[in-house]
Amino acid sequence: MSKRVAIIGGGISGLTTAYLLKRKGFEITVFEASERIGGNIQTVSRDGYTFEEGPNSLLKSPRLVDLVKLLGLEDQVLASDAAAKKRYVLFGGKLEAMGLRSFVNGYFSLKTIAALIREPFNRSRSPEGESVANFISRRIGPELVEKALDPFVSGIYAGDPKDLSMRSAFPKLFEMERDYGSLIVAAFRRKVEKADPQFPRTFSFHGGLKTLISALADEIGGNIRLSSPVREIEHSGQRFSVYRQTFDAAVISTPAFVASKLIENRDQELADRLGQINYPQLAVVILGFRSESFASKLDGFGFLIASREKRQILGTVFHSIVFPERSPEGHTLLVTFVGGVRSGDTLDARPDEDLKKMVQAELSDILGANEEPDLVHIKRWKNAIPQYQLGYEKVTDACGIFEEKNPGIYFCSNFYRGISVGDCVKNAFETADNVENYLNK
Ligand SMILES: Cc1cc2nc3c(=O)[nH]c(=O)nc-3n(C[C@H](O)[C@H](O)[C@H](O)COP(=O)(O)OP(=O)(O)OC[C@H]3O[C@@H](n4cnc5c(N)ncnc54)[C@H](O)[C@@H]3O)c2cc1C
Repeated sequence: MSKRVAIIGGGISGLTTAYLLKRKGFEITVFEASERIGGNIQTVSRDGYTFEEGPNSLLKSPRLVDLVKLLGLEDQVLASDAAAKKRYVLFGGKLEAMGLRSFVNGYFSLKTIAALIREPFNRSRSPEGESVANFISRRIGPELVEKALDPFVSGIYAGDPKDLSMRSAFPKLFEMERDYGSLIVAAFRRKVEKADPQFPRTFSFHGGLKTLISALADEIGGNIRLSSPVREIEHSGQRFSVYRQTFDAAVISTPAFVASKLIENRDQELADRLGQINYPQLAVVILGFRSESFASKLDGFGFLIASREKRQILGTVFHSIVFPERSPEGHTLLVTFVGGVRSGDTLDARPDEDLKKMVQAELSDILGANEEPDLVHIKRWKNAIPQYQLGYEKVTDACGIFEEKNPGIYFCSNFYRGISVGDCVKNAFETADNVENYLNK
């Protein structure tokens, strides 16, 4: 009889692990608390528009490409449009296109350019517990932090670079300095596993990211139990019991505050750490406009905003410029992020109409969007993205020690070793291998 594995949580981490374990011949059951799978990945189609409430697009990485190929989804891949190449930052009230040109058009000062040239000779090393802001400031300078890093971090984590741990939040950059003494030298010399060069760098799927989730669900088949929140993983001899079914291994793919409850009977200290991880609130305000309502034709991926601008929004993705098939002909779909650590818990107090008006006013000011939108959709994430704050290595290390001390229980979720969808998929491949090794011992 094949060995049985419980997967707790039906987001991309849990579904990918479940799919890979099924391929390896194990009997799997996915327990999902809500009435739908996908977790943060939720695509909505309405009034001729298709949009995402969570991640908008994916960045190519080796395991993500492997997953797409295993699922036979190559013909569903939708590459970002060439018009989406530019990425803007709002600084000093102006949209600045980021890239090599920012170093020659006066956006960065000569002092920062000189520091960049000197970077390979900067012999300093990251001290224990360094923040993302300090790391970049130490290697290149504070201007790069203020004008590029700060908006970039708010775009990825909805977070603050002064509070995030360099080693945990950007481990590749941390290792580049550790191994090569310079980010620039490492960029040229480091051997990295490259994904298929034919595959687009930024992509989604026809029909949205739900195409990936549906393909995983189809392969997993009838073994997904919706509306089934797991509150406890009980011991049943050498095995585990979930919803009175017995399993040989269990994978925890829930947010950290849920994982905390699931392990508190085994490790109270780790449970406390997991329970304290900060997940700021975030609202995603999706507006569709007639393309003619903008002051000038939009191009680019979208814009992020430096915190010193004191705007009420974090940034906007020009979703139908990135993927033109997402909006009806002659219309433009914009996805704006509000909240994150910058605004604390103030979102609760703002009704939807208020959020919509505020975003409209900001977009009118920044992009000259002066008509009423013909599509309005607001998604509120009460617990959006785990913040890998200073000292986060202690959480990650303790999760590893927990897995060693509790054979058969694994963590695979965005609070452990990376928040991007690509990271979640990479971790799912590793988790599936670890579970296989354990069960075939
Ligand atoms: C607004 C937003 C935008 C983002 N943009 C991008 C982007 O552009 N690109 C990118 O790569 N990444 C992006 N991310 C990050 C990425 O989407 C997430 O990190 C990733 O999808 C998390 O997947 P997960 O499976 O680890 O967790 P989740 O998606 O959180 O899934 C966890 C699942 O566990 C379930 N669950 C909870 N409690 C229980 C329980 N007791 N029992 C059973 N099930 C339970 C939940 O219902 C949920 O389905 C974004 C995230 C957000 C929120």
